[in-house]
Parts: sequence; C-alpha cells; structure tokens
Amino acid sequence: MTELDTSVFRSGLLTGQVALITGGGTGIGFGVAELLAELGAHVVLASRKPENLERACATIRASGGLATAVPLDVRDAEKVKEAVDHVAQTHGRIDLLVNNAAGNFYAPSATLSPNAWKSVVEIDLFGTFYCSQAVYPVMAAQGGGRIVSISMTLHYRGWPLMAHATAAKAGVDALTRTLAMEWAPQKIRLNAIAPGPIPTEGVKKAFTPPADSGVTDIFAATEARMSAYAKKSIPLGRWGTPRDVANMVAFLASPAGDWVTGAIFVIDGGEWLAKPPM
Ligand code: NAP
Repeated sequence: MTELDTSVFRSGLLTGQVALITGGGTGIGFGVAELLAELGAHVVLASRKPENLERACATIRASGGLATAVPLDVRDAEKVKEAVDHVAQTHGRIDLLVNNAAGNFYAPSATLSPNAWKSVVEIDLFGTFYCSQAVYPVMAAQGGGRIVSISMTLHYRGWPLMAHATAAKAGVDALTRTLAMEWAPQKIRLNAIAPGPIPTEGVKKAFTPPADSGVTDIFAATEARMSAYAKKSIPLGRWGTPRDVANMVAFLASPAGDWVTGAIFVIDGGEWLAKPPM
C-alpha cells in the first residue's frame, strides 16, 4: 500500500496545478513537494544548491511525478522576480507558492554579527515577501491563487539564542495576515503553518547549541533519548514529520481551502502549549 492509499486526499486532486516551493529540495519543503506531486501538481523547486534540487526532482520523477528545478536565492528580489516570471511563462500559471526557505542557527544575541542577523532575516522574512510580491501579478491575472508560508512557534514565548529567526518568523505571521486582507479581492489566499519540532537534517544542524549555552541539544541525542523527550515534552508523544506539514499544505491548496485566509495553523502535537519554561 502506498502512502497515498492511506491518504484522505483523492488521487489527481491537484492535477493541472503548478506549485512553486522555495527550499523544496530538502526536509519539510521536499516532503511538501512529494505529496503535492503525488496528488498531480507540477512542482517547481527553488533554492540555492543545484544538488539539492536535482536530487529531489529525480526522486519525484522516479515516482511518476512532475518536477522542475529553479536555482534561486530568495534574498535577491530581482532574481526572485525573474525566476517567478520564468515559471509563469513556462507553465502558464502559478497556483500555489510555498514560502519554506529559511536559515537558522543558535547564536547569542549579545554577539550576533550584523551579517548573521541580516542573513537569517533576509532569507526568512524578506524572501517570503519578495516571493509573495513576485507571484502577486501572476495570481491576480489568473483569478486567484494560494500562498502558504512556513513559520514556527518559537516566537510565541521567545526562544533564547534565536533572536534572528524568531523575529523573522513573527514578521512572516504579520505578513500573512496583512497580505491576506490586502489581496483577498484578487482571491489570493494567504495562510501560514507553524510546525513543531521535525528532525530534518537542516534543523539538526541549526539546533546544535554552543557547548557553554546551557541549552539541551535534543536532536544530537540518541534515538532512545529523543524518543523519551518526545514522550515527555510533546503531548501527542512523537516528533513531527514533513508529511504532517505537507497534509495541511495539500488541504489549503485544494478546493477545501477556498474560504481559508489569514490563518496560522500550529502543527506540533501540542508542543508549544505544553513547553515548560527554559
Ligand atoms: P532545511 O531542510 O534546512 O530547509 C531549508 C531550505 O531552505 C533548504 O532546502 C535550503 O536549500 C533553502 N534555503 C536556505 N537559504 C535559502 C536561500 N537564501 N534561498 C533559497 N533557498 C534557501 O530545514 P527544514 O527543517 O526542512 O525547514 C523548512 C522550514 O520549516 C523552514 O522555514 C523552517 O524555519 C521551518 N520549521 C522547521 C521546523 C523543524 O523542526 N524542522 C520547525 C519549525 C519551522 P539550499 O541550501 O539549496 O538553498
């Protein structure tokens, strides 16, 4: 039985749709791309490293999906516009944009360099704005579209050593609500998803705290300790998976998401509500 056989989504649900996914070559973005492609969408994966994109496209094509790679640094507004125009010209439309690209790492705020601060805020927040703004004319001209931005929950209560990423994602939440109101007349729906901890390779690297910081390196722990942590700290008792996030993206991309805009969906097994003080 394939994963799709156990899915609530019908086969061919997104056939004919074109979905642009930033950071779609790895981790959560790749999980989203895989599901959308399984459901019939043509996925266009955009990020900096061609090796990430080519590997992901090859995997999706090997399963019978439609996937194309577009090398892109989302911090470059001009290049974002060129890439989006290229996708629109090649495919004739863009139905869904998933703002998933992000950078993150632990760093004490007192010594965070201007470049480190700028880099994360530019990828997570500026990149989300540049990509959303670039798809606007395409979606407005075709009569509507969907934009889903991947946020986080760490800014709800604050998270030491991540001033840059938490500030950027708080901005992503604000953008989601503001653009949802501004672009509703064009039938462009904007929503965000705030995942809890999902042990992707990217997050394992980002969440390696400095040795003297007093912050627990949960992702570097053994399988047994990770499992114990999930049972203790995540009310639903397990870590998240890229598929948990992908399912919500697919719902929002489907006709079922027609009346949903300006919403931020927390998908975290209840983790942030239950999180003890650091
Ligand atoms: P990941 O695999 O490291 O994903 C980040 C992606 O962003 C990579 O594919 C990377 O590809 C791309 N990227 C980075 N800088 C870029 C740039 N300047 N331009 C274009 N693409 C760029 O990590 P992940 O865990 O899947 O995270 C995906 C999203 O989920 C992020 O928005 C993250 O904040 C969010 N999130 C994750 C978790 C978690 O626990 N995993 C929790 C909450 C939120 P290249 O290197 O090829 O550019």
